[in-house]
Amino acid sequence: MPSIMWFRETDIRMHDNTALSASCDQSQSVIGIFFITPETWAVHNIAPCRIQLMLRGLQLLEKNLASRNIPLFIYKILSYKEIPNIILDLANTFHVQHVFANKQYEINELQRDQLVCSLLSSHEKKLHCLDDQSILKPNQLKTGKGEYYTVFTPYKKAWVKHVLDNPIISLPVPEKKQTFETNNYQHPNLIKEISSTEIEQFNSAVDPDLWPAGEKHALKMLDTFLDENINKYKSTRDYPILDKTSKLSAYLATGMLSARVCFLQAKSANDNKIIDGNTEVDCWISELIWRDFYKQILISFPRVCKDRAFKQETDKLVWHNNNEHFEAWKNGQTGFPLVDAAMRQLKKTGWMHNRLRMLTAMFLSKFLWLDWRKGEAYFMQHLIDGDFASNNGGWQWSASTGTDAAPYFRIFNPTTQSERFDSDGAFIKKYCPELASLDKKTIHNPYVYAPEKAKKLDYPKPIIDYKSTRAYAIEQFKAL
Ligand SMILES: Cc1cc2nc3c(=O)[nH]c(=O)nc-3n(C[C@H](O)[C@H](O)[C@H](O)COP(=O)(O)OP(=O)(O)OC[C@H]3O[C@@H](n4cnc5c(N)ncnc54)[C@H](O)[C@@H]3O)c2cc1C
Repeated sequence: MPSIMWFRETDIRMHDNTALSASCDQSQSVIGIFFITPETWAVHNIAPCRIQLMLRGLQLLEKNLASRNIPLFIYKILSYKEIPNIILDLANTFHVQHVFANKQYEINELQRDQLVCSLLSSHEKKLHCLDDQSILKPNQLKTGKGEYYTVFTPYKKAWVKHVLDNPIISLPVPEKKQTFETNNYQHPNLIKEISSTEIEQFNSAVDPDLWPAGEKHALKMLDTFLDENINKYKSTRDYPILDKTSKLSAYLATGMLSARVCFLQAKSANDNKIIDGNTEVDCWISELIWRDFYKQILISFPRVCKDRAFKQETDKLVWHNNNEHFEAWKNGQTGFPLVDAAMRQLKKTGWMHNRLRMLTAMFLSKFLWLDWRKGEAYFMQHLIDGDFASNNGGWQWSASTGTDAAPYFRIFNPTTQSERFDSDGAFIKKYCPELASLDKKTIHNPYVYAPEKAKKLDYPKPIIDYKSTRAYAIEQFKAL
């Protein structure tokens, strides 16, 4: 009797895949399944470029699985609602008793799994949902009081201790399974292959060549990063033009790369240390721990999944509703060059540098005083690495509504940030070519440093006054 391995939007790989390994251990033969759910993806703001990356990854996964005699059935349906009956029907057809999947921790996904689980149980079949997305299970660590951590530093300390006491391992790609006859299986929603038309239906302006798909590519990128850049990570990571961060986030978000494998390889490049090794490498490992941290926030404070602030008192803030400001921010037309360059980078490439994510998120929430949830949704709609936990965590950090967030009075000054992290304006020039003629001082704030020259450019005046909007934001937080 085969078992079913239900691949999700977050585990498109064969290496170190917890549920895939478990299903291969359970049965001599395995059937893979995946659901394309355009309606649900739209409601969840999944970016078209991320969907395209996933589908391109699935094309490769299908071939890799075939080399292990594991067929992959891909169904195209509208939403999650249709999933329970399809799985039951497939399980009945092939006399399957065990269905395996890696957990997804967001609320709708948990509800979907609950429905599948109940339906299968009522037919004496079982859905096994396993932890796989993060290095440690999100519910692994608790404080001395038995509570989940809400501050990163003590979380990281407990994380490191736990990993030293319980070493992390990764799982190999499964061996070949037994073949079995699936040719007669038919279902109206089954698609024969993921064609380019199928992929292009999800309309994206991002060039797919920027993001080659598949685990082979992701593992190669990890290798290259470890060989070439990790030893300078801490010193270079804040300068967007250098482009020296790993850019692995898209592969981690779609699960083409395992976070455990990243951790284990970084650790071995760090003289087998997690902390107190090479500070440059320690710093990268710490970012992987931030990723785990936000996943544990998601499971322990599910209100963040319901459009609510982590710091509940900040739900009382009354945000402005200026659509012109929101449009200017989205289109990189705020008159603050580094903010604009960053927003254009996002639209063009599907990715934005971490420092610029913090800057643009603070700009939206603190200077434009627009609800951070609007920005959070816009990021998800455009990020190739869109990941609910990290995106929500990053937005709430920037808006000072989140766990371990930036204090409300610590607001990045867009001009100072620009002078510090893009000192010669090279990043600005890359995405805002209309500013290319400006010298390296003027480019950071053209209308203040050279108003006459600025007026002649096809570039907007700053849409807000920095000082008064900053003071307004601080007042609002103080009044809480
Ligand atoms: C407002 C905002 C929104 C964000 N949205 C997302 C998102 O949707 N998806 C996402 O993966 N990251 C998000 N981040 C975190 C971070 O910006 C990206 O992970 C990082 O820029 C990805 O680039 P990289 O792969 O080169 O990272 P590297 O610097 O090479 O870091 C390695 C990996 O560590 C993880 N990581 C790094 N920084 C963080 C962080 N601050 N929080 C959590 N994990 C981190 C990522 O998985 C990343 O790939 C967001 C941050 C902010 C401030």
